[in-house]
Amino acid sequence: MTNITFHGGVNDIGGNKFLVENKDTKIFMDFGMSFSQEGQFFSQFLGPRTSNSLNDLFELGILPKIKGLYRRDYAKHMDFGGDEETEIDAVLLTHAHVDHCAYIPYLREDIPIYCSEESKLIMQNFDETGSDQYLTAKQRFQIYENNKGQISRASGDKVAVPRRIEVFESGKGFSIDSIGVHPLPVDHSIPGVHAFILNTPEGTIGNTADLRFHGRRRDDTEKFVQKCTESDLDVLLCEGTRVDARSSITEYDVEGKVSDIVNDTKGLAICGYPIRDLDRLLSFYIAAKNTNRDLVIDMKQAYLLKLFNESPNLKGKYPGPTDKNIKIYIQRGSWGLIDKDIDIFSERQLLADYRIWQREFLDYPNALDYRDIQKKQNQYIFYCSDFRLQDLIDVKPAEGSSYIRSLTEPFNTEMEIKEDQVKNWFVHFGMLKREEDWHQIHVSGHGDGEQIKYVVEKTKAKSLVPIHTQHDEYHKKWHSNVTSVNQHDSVKL
Ligand SMILES: [Zn+2]
Repeated sequence: MTNITFHGGVNDIGGNKFLVENKDTKIFMDFGMSFSQEGQFFSQFLGPRTSNSLNDLFELGILPKIKGLYRRDYAKHMDFGGDEETEIDAVLLTHAHVDHCAYIPYLREDIPIYCSEESKLIMQNFDETGSDQYLTAKQRFQIYENNKGQISRASGDKVAVPRRIEVFESGKGFSIDSIGVHPLPVDHSIPGVHAFILNTPEGTIGNTADLRFHGRRRDDTEKFVQKCTESDLDVLLCEGTRVDARSSITEYDVEGKVSDIVNDTKGLAICGYPIRDLDRLLSFYIAAKNTNRDLVIDMKQAYLLKLFNESPNLKGKYPGPTDKNIKIYIQRGSWGLIDKDIDIFSERQLLADYRIWQREFLDYPNALDYRDIQKKQNQYIFYCSDFRLQDLIDVKPAEGSSYIRSLTEPFNTEMEIKEDQVKNWFVHFGMLKREEDWHQIHVSGHGDGEQIKYVVEKTKAKSLVPIHTQHDEYHKKWHSNVTSVNQHDSVKL
């Protein structure tokens, strides 16, 4: 018997956690966070308590209560076992968006995570430039006896346990016990996204992951659909984030529209886009080239490009961190010594202003700071994230500067408030005087209604389960055998 239990990602956009069980083989597809569920209870200043995080999340129905699934240090400290063998054989990760991967840091270290190389590098970027624990679990609640004979708290890298990360090859099948796995690349808004086709003794399961046809890799999505048709699927878990939306522009249109706006810009062109969407970075990079400017990225993006560039498989897919049309923006560090007298403070103190992963960029030939941008505003497209708008105070955008917002439009009041705040910054700098000064140029990572209808019809699966959507009525219109499920429901094959 093969069972799929939906521990998240149904009647909801994101939070995918699908448990596939065949005899003794148990595999999770994705282990993501649901924004809507977390948002019901938590906010910026109210989250699960580190000391009791698992129980807090169990209580609120956010994480499934399964023994042997969670990291041992947490499970033991929170009285949820921890000594038992795990029954979970693997987690298959479709991609490194938080609604698909953010709860991986809670998982047991010895459960292998199967993912693409791109997803691995993005998770590495999360860990090393932030405080996440995707690739290594830094053990908590550990004590040791120090040399004075006192009990001390162990912390940090001293007690880091690496996770088992198994990088799969795109398009190449492999087996996990009784289940055959085929990872197939699809087009979406972050590198390395893979849909899956699983072969079990009782039948074949497809999982679309998140997909679209209007990005730079539509052929990949097309091939996945083709493969589904050939695989005679018993059930397709089919995403439907934007089933109610009409067709939009393409990623190539974004590139063109951005080029046009930058062409008409006399001062500095400023932009905001999803930090890990390298296809979008590429659109701005191409627009910069088209307009004889350079794209100025932040250190986090430079670090991600560095990781991609160091991989023999991925080198050349995106611009490298020292590309001649890329500049790296050195932001003010903790003491802001970048423009202070270095003879007084010393080179050593300047380095101490930055985290270890940031330091090497200070010596890059293409590194620059606010003074360089201030002087030559018409030579750059300057990336400025919503979290670093203060950099505008240093950069001082001159008369005739523009801002291009290449991010999803607000779809709730919280996001509207945030967007208003962003607008205030550009009003302050005199860049937003009229409605038409606000350039919103974005395409979604998800297919519209027509595209999903095409996937539903063309894949010819015997049955369908809508996932990653709040509108299953569309799937029902397009397919005669649709099973809508609630969180924690199971479907038998
Ligand atoms: Zn996604």
